[in-house]
Amino acid sequence: MEYTIWNPQAECMDREALEQVQLERLQMTLNLTARNVDLYARRFREIGLLPEDVRQLPDLAGIPFTTREDLIQAYPYGLFAVPLRSVVQLRLAASSVDPIVVGYTRQDLRMWTELMCRAMAAADVGRTDIIQVAFHYSQFPGAFTFNQGAESLGAVLTPAATVSGALQLKMMQDFRSTVLASTPAFALNLLKTLQEAGNGDADGRDTVGQEGAAGLHLRVGLFGPEALQPQVRALLEQGLGLRAYSVYGVAEMIEPALAAECSQQSGMHLAEDHFYIEIIDPQTGDTLPPGEEGEVVVTSLTTQGYPLIRFRTGDISRLHLAACPCGRLSARLSPVFRRTDAAVSIRGIRLHPGLVEQVVREIAPESPDFRLLIQTVHGLGDQVELILAHSEAGPLSGATLETLRGQLRRVLGLGLRLRQAPQKRLPLAGLTYKTTFQEREVPASELPF
Ligand SMILES: [Zn+2]
Repeated sequence: MEYTIWNPQAECMDREALEQVQLERLQMTLNLTARNVDLYARRFREIGLLPEDVRQLPDLAGIPFTTREDLIQAYPYGLFAVPLRSVVQLRLAASSVDPIVVGYTRQDLRMWTELMCRAMAAADVGRTDIIQVAFHYSQFPGAFTFNQGAESLGAVLTPAATVSGALQLKMMQDFRSTVLASTPAFALNLLKTLQEAGNGDADGRDTVGQEGAAGLHLRVGLFGPEALQPQVRALLEQGLGLRAYSVYGVAEMIEPALAAECSQQSGMHLAEDHFYIEIIDPQTGDTLPPGEEGEVVVTSLTTQGYPLIRFRTGDISRLHLAACPCGRLSARLSPVFRRTDAAVSIRGIRLHPGLVEQVVREIAPESPDFRLLIQTVHGLGDQVELILAHSEAGPLSGATLETLRGQLRRVLGLGLRLRQAPQKRLPLAGLTYKTTFQEREVPASELPF
């Protein structure tokens, strides 16, 4: 099959030319931030750096990282590099209790839409497609960029948001949607709804004929912001009759479409002409060579409104420079299955155990310890139980539990089941902070096929 490259000049640039472009744009970004962003002006002064001192890309490693903490401290507009009148959109990146606001200029939004078009083209989505966008628009503002990408491509857009699974399927069947954009968890739920409706036979093969699974016309799935676990990809591809692609982003910069998979489904091509990516050792901060696993650090190269220098994303991944059979020469990023901050993804919502700890300390300080028990299906967080250790005086009161439950829901945007246990009977914590995972057995009747 012939796959289209949206911007061959950018996506197929050889490394030498690309590095030249990156260096010029980096110098512009350093100048912009040194002039207009107090935090960067101060940091550059502290290390005695003049933007013109950065003569080659590796020189960037001498500049301190930008952390999520810096972004929170600068809330709301402290890191904006342009006056507010030049900003045309503000988006909340709520990945912690403390909010972060990202401002985009008109040019930033144009660039983002272009990157979404690249991602869609890489997944063989084009102007003849009907794209059903099934994200929760307020929880995942990146969903709007799918809309803009679809419009830019000239495709037909169906912003289905998160209407019920049954209605999603009806829209897919009646509108003949060819592309589904959603979280992997939401797509798995659709698959379950499909199976419950009895539209597939016992083996999951469609019973309708040529059209695909259960009268669906889906060809392509674009999934994010969580990475596609291999077993989830296989389930979705087989059950929904599509090819599943991961689209990656960083909520504090651009999410999604900073990187996206191509027809090879073997790593996500990075938009290296707009972002410079480093992989670092999260402990030492040293830059690691391509191929090694470490934390993804991103520097914006063309962003005007909210440029960030060496932003530590917390995502753990690898960078691959080998040429891709699809023809693109841009580096590829492995799927991000782990984070440095121990956050886990529950039905598309990011849960930080540290946040749970803050709330427990505030409402029920008498409980000495807790565990999060996460039951996962196919590697995706499904249900969370908070197990609280008894205080010295015994279990917490019902009223305290109620207050805790309400506050957790407000802070996390997610309901947790609460249980109490003597401290010595708490489950052992797994590799992730105070969190234990349990693969939930799925009864055969609940399997999507
Ligand atoms: Zn490729």
